[in-house]
Amino acid sequence: MSKADLSRLPAVEKTLQALEEVDLPRPIILSLVRQSIKELRNNPEKIPDFNDYINTLRTELNSLSRTRIAAVINGTGVLIHTNMGRSPLPDSAAERLCSIATNYNNLELDLNTGERGNRAAYLEKCLALVSGSESATSVNNCASALVIILRHFVRGNKRRVIISRSQLVEIGGGFRIPDILLASGAVLHEIGTTNKTTVKDYENAISDETALILKVHQSNFYMGGFIENAETEELAQLAKKKGIPFCEDLGSGAVVNTDEFGPVDHEPTPSEILAKGVDLICYSGDKLLGGPQAGIIAGRSKLVKGIKKEPFFRALRCDKLILSMLEEVTESYLRGITEIPILDMLSSTTDELNSRAEAIIKDLKELPLSACTGKGESRIGGGTMPKSTIPSVTIDLKPEKFSTSKLAKNLRCNTNPVMGYTADGLFKIDLRTVFPRQDENLLEAIKEAVS
Ligand SMILES: *Cc1c(COP(=O)(O)O)cnc(C)c1O
Repeated sequence: MSKADLSRLPAVEKTLQALEEVDLPRPIILSLVRQSIKELRNNPEKIPDFNDYINTLRTELNSLSRTRIAAVINGTGVLIHTNMGRSPLPDSAAERLCSIATNYNNLELDLNTGERGNRAAYLEKCLALVSGSESATSVNNCASALVIILRHFVRGNKRRVIISRSQLVEIGGGFRIPDILLASGAVLHEIGTTNKTTVKDYENAISDETALILKVHQSNFYMGGFIENAETEELAQLAKKKGIPFCEDLGSGAVVNTDEFGPVDHEPTPSEILAKGVDLICYSGDKLLGGPQAGIIAGRSKLVKGIKKEPFFRALRCDKLILSMLEEVTESYLRGITEIPILDMLSSTTDELNSRAEAIIKDLKELPLSACTGKGESRIGGGTMPKSTIPSVTIDLKPEKFSTSKLAKNLRCNTNPVMGYTADGLFKIDLRTVFPRQDENLLEAIKEAVS
């Protein structure tokens, strides 16, 4: 490198000063600056004008800053959006979280005796009641619930887990039932066919090596036509007769009748499934339950107790913050207060959504964009009830001066990021999944995105 080139290299201090207004910790900015100067040192012919250099860095830092976890306005109409953190929590759970997070607490302390207490004993009572089970406990998520259940039952020469070929599903995010079985030391014993599995198939498969009969709720897809699946009651009777545990992974597991809240399918509840004679079930905390990320295991006391004694259980246990929020959410179900955001969203009427949409559109009149109300189809999402679409109301936008994809990008990159979707050449924002308290911010974001 020549001396002239070297003198054109940006100086670290000067660069940092020029980026002073970027709201990221200094070491993060510094590492990016150092990296970029190093690259320029190796390619001196590429050294840009200082102002251009700063602008490029600023853009990069702003992009980086948008990868921090932040609140997003969900205008996709997908209620349980895995990319957007699944179920938003009720305010009461957030308040509880705040108080537990910033103070000491009685997590493993019995205030009655002053002795060491039983972690989450009260929560487990609540979980058992909402699940209609003898006993219940919680772990990190439903995937780990399934793993610990498998590890508990698969041992010695009993390693075979019987499952119908119609239930060897991929849940999403690479979570495949056959892989989970393998990783848990189980031997997959698949029976029946894709479209038909009978009780006889299960009966014929049972041997001395059978550890467990497993059912997996087909949550994210549906089958029609020439299909048959063994009835849960009959399977439960068979399992009991043969002395084999029978478990079901429910996935979403709504603890209330979802069809009473909106025009959606009935999602089997934990208590309905357990009443059919299933020994043990697991379901997610942050899908239709509307709580924090967790996996709930519920069923016969003896089995839940055994699972809690597994050495591996310790590795999957929830922390105090999750436990306190789960407690708050399950308590609110038990009190009959279903102020669960996704259930509220599910029950919003199109009239309510329409008047909100019109109020927002009224304030968009002067802008270089066409805005009107449109029809939307909200979905439950989170791999739940793929068949159910809920009629909804959208705000349909078309900018006059640039493309809808540019509008989508501007809205995503707003200080209050907005996600929507493009259909029929329009950018659509489904109001069912936007909290009414966000309407003001949504309006501002649209205004900024077009100006
Ligand atoms: C979503 C789902 C899971 C995984 O649940 P997580 O809580 O995300 O671990 C497992 N099984 C079924 C059937 C599901 O739908």
